[in-house]
Amino acid sequence: MKRFWSGSGIATNKEMVKNLQNYGVVGSKKVSEVMESIDRAFFVPDDAPPYVDTPLPIGYNATISAPHMHATCLQLLEKHLQPGMRALDVGSGTGYLTACFALMVGPEGRAVGVEHIPELVASSIENINKSAAAPLLKEGSLSLHVADGRQGWPECAPYDAIHVGAAAAEIPPALIDQLKPGGRMVIPVGNIFQDLMVVDKDVDGSVNIHNETSVRYVPLTSREAQLRDS
Ligand code: SAH
Repeated sequence: MKRFWSGSGIATNKEMVKNLQNYGVVGSKKVSEVMESIDRAFFVPDDAPPYVDTPLPIGYNATISAPHMHATCLQLLEKHLQPGMRALDVGSGTGYLTACFALMVGPEGRAVGVEHIPELVASSIENINKSAAAPLLKEGSLSLHVADGRQGWPECAPYDAIHVGAAAAEIPPALIDQLKPGGRMVIPVGNIFQDLMVVDKDVDGSVNIHNETSVRYVPLTSREAQLRDS
């Protein structure tokens, strides 16, 4: 698995973002600002090193993605996370990316997280309440729901941006349906070997898909299968 740095020499969230810039992962000013605003330490378990470039276990056979993956997905979606736009985060886990999306689309936009483990949704709300996105959760432009993300979240569709944080065997058709013309979805696809696919829906509704990079995510599956797999 790709890792740009390891060890615990990085002591602050700001230094972590600086590292992402230095390693060439983040070029966008907006993405740097958002990642500086949302402190990763509020989203990782208490005893885990928050600023190391590695995924960390969060229980329930799930992980919080590595900082470089969060940064990569934010950059791929940046144009579709402008103020006032709508974003869906499937498999929202700790709520980290949903919080970043909410800051980017702002109070006039809508950021929705869908996660199928109720305990993770409850802890993601606690995490977000400690973070800079807390006011958006209070106002309602940011929300988190317990549901099967393979069905998306039709209530707030269509979305300018859809992020899927778990690997699907195939791209769920409901998610393509809920993508707005002109919108973009980023989704890992595959089983053991996975590709991060970028799905662009043109304004005329046609869909173009390209493979961005190889990745390793937990599976997008049923709650029963996920909890059984340990
Ligand atoms: N972006 C999150 C990733 C968490 S790991 C973060 O960095 O915190 C992927 C998450 O997808 C897990 O929390 C897992 O419980 C969830 N998941 C897997 N299958 C799902 C499904 N069908 N519906 C909703 N969530 C799902």
